[in-house]
Amino acid sequence: MPKRQTDHKNPPLAPIIQKIPPAHGTYALIYRCDTPFEVAVGKLGPVSFSTGHWVYIGSAFGPGGLKSRLNHHLTPSARPHWHLDYVKQALLPLEIWLTTDTLKQEHAWASDLWHLKGATCPIAGFGASDCACRAHLIHLRHLPRFAAFKKRIAKTVQGVVIRIPIIIQHTG
Ligand SMILES: [Zn+2]
Repeated sequence: MPKRQTDHKNPPLAPIIQKIPPAHGTYALIYRCDTPFEVAVGKLGPVSFSTGHWVYIGSAFGPGGLKSRLNHHLTPSARPHWHLDYVKQALLPLEIWLTTDTLKQEHAWASDLWHLKGATCPIAGFGASDCACRAHLIHLRHLPRFAAFKKRIAKTVQGVVIRIPIIIQHTG
């Protein structure tokens, strides 16, 4: 598995995990890719990651909820299970967006995010083995804006949508 090449040190994980509710819900994980790479991802085969921002969308409706699932995604996996497990170590996690809405929002979010400015969906099937979405992974050249996303989904999500920064972005 490729390892990310970046100036950043891994942020301490515990204080971030502490902020994630153990409730069920839907999340978007925003990553940055600084070095393009190619890797074999399970049954999908070889896929290419270009530089820029990647957003992975999923939901956690099992034991431990969002806290447990996101802890998994932010920790290296010895045995890959999800498509994300094959690539997560090569990507720099920047932010988590989540809701504890008891309705599964992952498929709606996957299509909503695709409509953000500059968004493309270059890796068909990624994270979407069990649904009709093109993918649960979106590429954006620029960091997607949480405020714009929150506004887009306001009508469809019951309850709060929160942003948890992992690495503080210095913009401008
Ligand atoms: Zn889907």
